[in-house]
Amino acid sequence: MKNETDARLRARAARVIPGGMYGHQSVTKLPAGFPQFFAKAEGTYLWDSDGNKYLDFMCGYGPNLFGYGRPEIDAAFTQQAKRIDTATGPSEVMVELAEKFTRQIMHADWAMFCKNGTDATSMALMIARAYRGRKKILLAKGAYHGSAPWCTPMPAGTVPDDRNHFIYYSYNDVNSLELAIDEAGDDLAGVFASPFKHDVIVDQEMPSPDYARRARDLCDKNDALLIIDDVRAGFRLTRDSSWSSLSIAPDLSCWGKSIANGHPISALLGSEKAKEAAGQIYATGSFWFSAAPMAASIATLKLIEETDYLERTIELAEEMRSGLTEISQRHNVPLNQTGPAQMPLITIPDAEGKADLEKGYAFSSEMIRRGVYFHPWHNMFMNAAMTKDDISQTLDAADASLAAVKDTIVAKP
Ligand SMILES: *Cc1c(COP(=O)(O)O)cnc(C)c1O
Repeated sequence: MKNETDARLRARAARVIPGGMYGHQSVTKLPAGFPQFFAKAEGTYLWDSDGNKYLDFMCGYGPNLFGYGRPEIDAAFTQQAKRIDTATGPSEVMVELAEKFTRQIMHADWAMFCKNGTDATSMALMIARAYRGRKKILLAKGAYHGSAPWCTPMPAGTVPDDRNHFIYYSYNDVNSLELAIDEAGDDLAGVFASPFKHDVIVDQEMPSPDYARRARDLCDKNDALLIIDDVRAGFRLTRDSSWSSLSIAPDLSCWGKSIANGHPISALLGSEKAKEAAGQIYATGSFWFSAAPMAASIATLKLIEETDYLERTIELAEEMRSGLTEISQRHNVPLNQTGPAQMPLITIPDAEGKADLEKGYAFSSEMIRRGVYFHPWHNMFMNAAMTKDDISQTLDAADASLAAVKDTIVAKP
């Protein structure tokens, strides 16, 4: 595989970009064959800057829901941008988008728009505190809610005071949730929950109905707000907010990534009871009112409402999951495939059942060489542009890759 252009760009980037690249899209924590720079994206495919083509199972780490460059969505964006986009005030599409969200998401009575998931989760945090003038926020240990000082997973540049009023509980553990609620006492402002446990490296877990129900009840009992962080899983499990399948409505829900199929916009949705507090906080941004991403989001919500994108994606995802199970059994290399099939985390377990990153790296390295972008330790994403052919190509690559990995694993005592 050619990588001269990528190598050149990396050398240039190292001079003018801290660390050569930063954040989740830096490939420093991926095997050597992973390209850093890309030149083209279309449907479910990516081309790196050297022209190598990949079937992409990361979907931009979430934004690609309908395929890169889905024509109806991009046309809505372009047409709006020609009229008005970023200007001195918002446009009609903002009201239209808020109306559409409140119609399609059952718990939502209002909407606020911003740019990134971190904006939405940080606003949710402020609204929960403004709601009854309380301080304590509950977070599940290891859960990702963004990169602001209160939630970044890496401590560099933050101080312990940034986390002063946070109490950590274990996801799906009712007892630890109750202890954390007790610790907050009469100062409980809100409880954050991910739709399912989608932390990096460790097996994903669906929410237990008991835990989800208890979180709702304890928030009600304490007059605190329940916040679902749907930034990653939104519209990938259901067409409504993710705990709707458990018949649980949050007070606030955070959205981003997929809601405009890659155009820059995120959203915070809320119920009537949180509306007054939401109106009190000062929240804004230079690009938060831009009209073109809102038009793209309206077009995306329309496809969500009117097509069978979700059922088709899940069907292909389940086909891939059972195909991978068969291949792993045939090669006698175990695979842990956890979480929803359409947002799978796929790792090779060690003797204790924990992800063996060395083997995972070897496997994803073999996959990338065969033109399939599989991540070794982050959950992946399927999108509605994927086809049966893509799945069979992936299974062929996995078959050859596991055969190759098996040799390296056996070769190493
Ligand atoms: C990505 C993510 C965020 C942060 O969104 P950004 O757009 O990267 O700021 C928050 N919560 C979850 C669950 C996410 O996956």
